[in-house]
Formats: sequence, structure tokens, C-alpha cells
Amino acid sequence: MKKKGFLEFAMTILLLAGAFFLPRESAQMLQSATTDPITVLIDVGHGGADSGKVGVNGALEKDINLQISLRLQSLLKEAGITAILTRDTDKGLYQETDSNKKLADMKARIQMITDVDADIVVSIHQNSYSKSSVSGAQVFYYTSSEQGQQLAQAIQDGFDYALGDRNTRSIKANKDYYILVHSPIVSVICECGFLSNPEEADLLTTSDYQQKIAQSICNGILNYFQNSNQSTLS
Ligand SMILES: [Zn+2]
Repeated sequence: MKKKGFLEFAMTILLLAGAFFLPRESAQMLQSATTDPITVLIDVGHGGADSGKVGVNGALEKDINLQISLRLQSLLKEAGITAILTRDTDKGLYQETDSNKKLADMKARIQMITDVDADIVVSIHQNSYSKSSVSGAQVFYYTSSEQGQQLAQAIQDGFDYALGDRNTRSIKANKDYYILVHSPIVSVICECGFLSNPEEADLLTTSDYQQKIAQSICNGILNYFQNSNQSTLS
């Protein structure tokens, strides 16, 4: 082989090798970024003496919150994410001796968020309104939190996908909810449906619908982490 011919041959091999190795390397970088251990704290709203909202069908918000949260925990674990619940039984986070149980409960939740080295907090609740026609799922984030807004939008997109056209609600900024104000990390509140709407209240008590809601939230969380990894790498 002449010298010029050899150089051309060597360059071609290098280019081919580059074309093969570069995308692989960036894929590996993305994979290692996405496989960094992720911890999600699932804040299960209400519990114990605090029932939360009461449905038009008599369903208690605290029970629906727990069912959806347990399902969400399983789905996240299947996806390789550590998921911790603020409660896994029908118990509030207050002590019987606490004079203001609601405040003690909320403070204990914030303490848990502070103690657990989680990446995000997803608080699970059900909504209620004076007009029974109002329905749908909606995610709230702290007003000035850009990441909170991104997480809220990712979960809202999941809700819209799973619930279809009937879900007309959008994410909403809030600066008053205790968890959003006091949590030291990225936090959102998922209001999964309206217990004041007869159809939705009935749906929310079925295991199929609870699973659908949990899957929507799980998909939103996974998309959020995938998008944050991609923006870190670019
Ligand atoms: Zn609630």
C-alpha cells in the first residue's frame, strides 16, 4: 500500500471508529446519570384523626391517598427508584398528646423531608369544591420554584395522558400550602381528583383508577428525571 493510500485508509478507520464510539460514550454517560440513585419521598396526605376531605359517596381522602401512594411506591421501586412514604398505615404523624395535632403532623412531615435525603417530595391529596360538576387532577408547586414547576408539569402531562380529554386542569403555583412553603427540597402536591364530583369520587375508590392515577404520577416523575439528566448533559 502506498503511503497516501495508507493514510486515507487509516483516516477512514478512525472516522468509522469515532462514529461508532462517540454516540456509545454519550449513551453511557446518560445511562450513568440516569442510574444515579434517586429517592422520592411520597407524602401521604392526612391520616388517623384527620380524614381530609369526605367524598359525596362517604369515601375518606386519607384512605384514597394511602392506596394511591402504596401503588406509586411499588411502581417507582419497579423503575429502580427508592420511594419512601411519610405513613404506610392509617396513622397521622402527630402524638396523641399534641394539643394542635394538625400542626404537629405537618411539622413532623417537614422534619421527615429534612431527615431523608430525598431528591423530590410528591404529596398525594384529593380535592373538593362547592360545585359538584368540577373534576380532574391538578398539580401544585411553590410559586418561585422553577424545578417544582417542571416536576408539576411533568406529572400534569402524565395525568392528561391517562385521564384524556376530561382532564382540563393545568398546573398551579401556590405560596401558602404548608408543605410547599416549608419543604427544603423540590416539592409538589398532586390533587388527584374531586371527591365532591360523584363520578370521580366513585372512580377514586376503585383499584383500577387508583392504579391509573399512580401510573400517571410515576410516568411524570420518570420523565422529570430523564429531562433533568438530559439538560445536565447538554
Ligand atoms: Zn388533602
